[in-house]
Amino acid sequence: MTTTQSNSVQRPAPVSATVLAYHRISERPLPAGTWVTPDQLASHLDRLLAVGCRPLAPFDLSATGCVEIPDAAISLSVEGLAAVPAFLITFDDGTEDLYRYRAVLAARGVTGVVFVPADLIGRCNRWEWPVPGRKTHHLTADQLGSLVQQGWEVGLHGRTHCDLTRLADAGLRAELTDGRRRLADDLGVPVRWLSYPYGRVDERVAAAALDAGLTAGFTLGTVVGNVPAPMARPRRPVYCIDTSADLVAKVSDPAGATLAGRWQFWKEGASHAVGRWSGGWKRQPAVGKRS
Ligand SMILES: [Zn+2]
Repeated sequence: MTTTQSNSVQRPAPVSATVLAYHRISERPLPAGTWVTPDQLASHLDRLLAVGCRPLAPFDLSATGCVEIPDAAISLSVEGLAAVPAFLITFDDGTEDLYRYRAVLAARGVTGVVFVPADLIGRCNRWEWPVPGRKTHHLTADQLGSLVQQGWEVGLHGRTHCDLTRLADAGLRAELTDGRRRLADDLGVPVRWLSYPYGRVDERVAAAALDAGLTAGFTLGTVVGNVPAPMARPRRPVYCIDTSADLVAKVSDPAGATLAGRWQFWKEGASHAVGRWSGGWKRQPAVGKRS
């Protein structure tokens, strides 16, 4: 790590952090594997904190996805900062369980980014496999406002949660430009970042996101084509089978260099392949699709 000297304050250069991608928090199993129980989430965070991994707040992250260490954190030595793996929590889909279990994160001083489909605020979605007697409710504007007050950042997850790579240009603009505007207007907050639904992005989608004024795009690991780095920010997905030791491997060994890291990459690859296959069966909007 290199440093710069400014007004006798030793300021670390930006460093990278592992971005974790959670989806649902549920006491009961859900059809997809992208859920954790509240106790599991607590155990993930407790273990990460116990081994010295440093949670980042959204304001620590620059537009390009690099970490900017705020002045208040410079009490740590540069060497210490380099040695401490950092992580940022993200939640995709913006379902109301994040609000229900927000205390699990707040009690540990952890905030993050929640990525929301702009048209689904306060509504139920239709993309998840139907389970009799269960509907998936999304966060209301008031609940999102409360999370923002607690330090959470709200990002865009499309307008309707469709696969952006399958849309014609007009549909892409509606999902990204209109979606960003609607989210910002409804919540009264700036919307800077995008999480691609199903993690799917290509060069055309990334260009449309930049045109919409979004400055960083978060994936689930699969990028097609030559997507600029800020729009292909990788994340490590978290699944219901992940133990607290798995989380430490994801954060402290993001390159998968160790045996534990390679096992994590293999497991994520298999889980993601199943997710992509099942995503192909999910409902897509009737308008704006590519012919
Ligand atoms: Zn999603």
